[in-house]
Amino acid sequence: MNGPENIIHDSYADIIIDISVEALDKTFQYRIPDRLQSKVSIGSKVNISFGKGDRKITGYVVKISDRPKIDVSKIKDIDSVCDKQINIDDRMVGLAFWMKEQFGSTANEALKCVIPVKRIIKNKVERQIIPIASVDVLTDEKVKAAKRHATGKVRLIEELIEEYETGLKYELVTQKLNIAPATINSMVKDGIIRIDSKTSYRSSLGKACEDSAVPGQKNRSLQIELNDEQKVVSDSIIADYRQGKNGKYLIHGITGSGKTEVYMAVIEEVIASGKSVIMLIPEISLTYQTVKRFYRRFGDSISVINSRLSAGERYDQYLRAKNGETKIVIGPRSAVFTPFDNLGLIIIDEEHEGSYKSEQSPRYSTRDVAFRRSDTEGAMVILGSATPSLESYSAAESGRLRLFELKSRAGGAELPKVWIADLREELKNRNRSIFSYKLRELMTDRLSKKEQIMLFINRRGLSGFVNCRSCGFVFKCPHCDVSLNLHNNGRLVCHYCGYEEPMVKNCPKCGSLYVSTFGIGTQKVEEILNKEFPSARVLRMDSDTTRQKESYDEILSKFANFEADILVGTQMIVKGHDFHKVTLVGILLADMSLHSSDYRSGEITFDLLSQAAGRAGRGDMKGDVVIQTYNPEHYAITSAAEHDYKSFYDEEISFRKLMNYPPSWTMLKIMLLSEDEKKLLSETERFTVVLKDMLLGKKKVKLFGPSKAIVYKLNDIYRMVYYFKSADYAELVSIKDELGDKPLREKEVSIQLDFNPQ
Ligand code: ADP
Ligand code: ZN
Ligand code: ZN
Repeated sequence: MNGPENIIHDSYADIIIDISVEALDKTFQYRIPDRLQSKVSIGSKVNISFGKGDRKITGYVVKISDRPKIDVSKIKDIDSVCDKQINIDDRMVGLAFWMKEQFGSTANEALKCVIPVKRIIKNKVERQIIPIASVDVLTDEKVKAAKRHATGKVRLIEELIEEYETGLKYELVTQKLNIAPATINSMVKDGIIRIDSKTSYRSSLGKACEDSAVPGQKNRSLQIELNDEQKVVSDSIIADYRQGKNGKYLIHGITGSGKTEVYMAVIEEVIASGKSVIMLIPEISLTYQTVKRFYRRFGDSISVINSRLSAGERYDQYLRAKNGETKIVIGPRSAVFTPFDNLGLIIIDEEHEGSYKSEQSPRYSTRDVAFRRSDTEGAMVILGSATPSLESYSAAESGRLRLFELKSRAGGAELPKVWIADLREELKNRNRSIFSYKLRELMTDRLSKKEQIMLFINRRGLSGFVNCRSCGFVFKCPHCDVSLNLHNNGRLVCHYCGYEEPMVKNCPKCGSLYVSTFGIGTQKVEEILNKEFPSARVLRMDSDTTRQKESYDEILSKFANFEADILVGTQMIVKGHDFHKVTLVGILLADMSLHSSDYRSGEITFDLLSQAAGRAGRGDMKGDVVIQTYNPEHYAITSAAEHDYKSFYDEEISFRKLMNYPPSWTMLKIMLLSEDEKKLLSETERFTVVLKDMLLGKKKVKLFGPSKAIVYKLNDIYRMVYYFKSADYAELVSIKDELGDKPLREKEVSIQLDFNPQ
């Protein structure tokens, strides 16, 4: 028993009970017994006896103090420290709590972002793929494989020829080069390669470290000499770094201007000084080409995190980073939580990408998390984009970020010429085809020259929906309140929930025969191409053809290997791929995203058009882009056509200011959800009064709503939304905190918060 005189000598730990148990969002206080004093720190994982039954569970220490919160006689001791577990350190715990505050979530949800999933540590077999056939035989095999369009095999053989002496690590081949195990197995059967295995014990880190160092795989590529524009950027950042400034930078560089080379130059400096780097790339751009570039330059000091990794593999990467075996982690947004002890740099490439915003609670912005780590851990942050987000560019304008511009394409390629085709005029001129005269002319030209073409359909927004031209009836999903899309098999399909119904000939409402699709889908374009350009080889990429993860890379590498003349696709095809033979990009209908009911629709359209246009003429040949549209005078379209980010930005930011949209103001979206529409509506009514009361005295905050969500009913759940807007983020955070004390009355209604929703 502790006498009162002992209180100041004892210390107490606030503990969040194990996050794998969905627990209360609450800490529990335990005493740290003397024998554990030196072992318990913030982030320690500990064993405790919980509740009345003294259930043995684990928890994380998130705070230590010398003040008991309740009667000391009721405070239990911590039983022991779980020492097999890696401790998350207090920085990461601090980051989690900051996220909970900033973005509104439970402590458990926030901790889940920074704590790796546990795994049972088991022995792991390390395998090496060794070529046994001669280089000549391999080359023959490659030619054969190429004829069969076995692109994975071609790629593997190319790599094997290059690394003929050492062979390749199995993991590298399957994970980083994305080659299917079946391909490898068939080559073993054919006696071309063999696989050497040895067991390594993951738990013994020294050994794993030795194993991972395969010699001869580093710095093998020709190092590109930076041009003057690039040098100014990398020299300035490196100079800041050497002076110990943890600066924040925005590199606004047109597509192909050589941003990646600049990143690599800075990365080299940072790791040479003994610090570590987090390189964030949107998952969709984390392709074979990108990873290989980094791998060539930095060898085994990189590790790649992607959604294909199992929880165990991810845990391993985490551990390797924590132990300093990895110096550079490349991955999508979750990689921002990599627990490097000496973080020197976080790079966010394509920083405008929507995928940097989390869709789950905490709905964090990766950029804000990176800035936070920069401030608390003294790391630099570099954002890069051809079309910076309004947030970042306005931060640069106000001096919170240092801005660099790369205005020309590295290696001297010219920007493509952009043509705008006014579809209203086409119709007047009796062109009823989906290809404008200009696009058709250029396509014919490129096909005759054996150059490649990309045709892009903007599927953000409504396309392929079916309506009656006579009475206006639109076919909608009974569960989701969105329009149904007509698929090739003659069925109408909901893209949110998968609901299907057969297509009909007559309008269900007025009986007319004028029922047809509005807009076009990728399948339709493919069909039309096959009819109108029968000799052209066409590849199609959309979510139908890329169900399996592999086929995404498969399609792209087929196109890269010139196995097709035309690639048709959705926005999937516009991200960051370098196809040197593409000299024509056609954007079939630029308007679709302009009409979505999102305040960012202008920005989304400008980004998509700019990125799509950036695909043309990346090599030595000059490119053309044709944008087809019904709104040829819209600023998002004209400034994309002129490659003029700044004029787009000026128009868009004044619109945002006028309407009090981010980034000029901050928004907090509050959504109420329920399967029971009646209860949702009555709760909404009550909640509106609560919210209005909260606003009294807060003059700087405005409340909008309640209104039905854009998609009111999704998966049979009804959704009502409110938006708070304020010029002051802190003000909205305080609203969020106040809401925490006012739970909903209806159990069947739940609430979701989202700052600056996208
Ligand atoms: P970004 O990341 O801005 O799109 P990249 O770094 O991918 O640009 O560069 C685009 C292309 O230009 C790549 O093929 C790259 O190898 C090449 N490149 C980059 N910098 C140079 C340079 N200084 N000299 C020659 N080629 C370069
Ligand atoms: Zn009708
Ligand atoms: Zn649906």
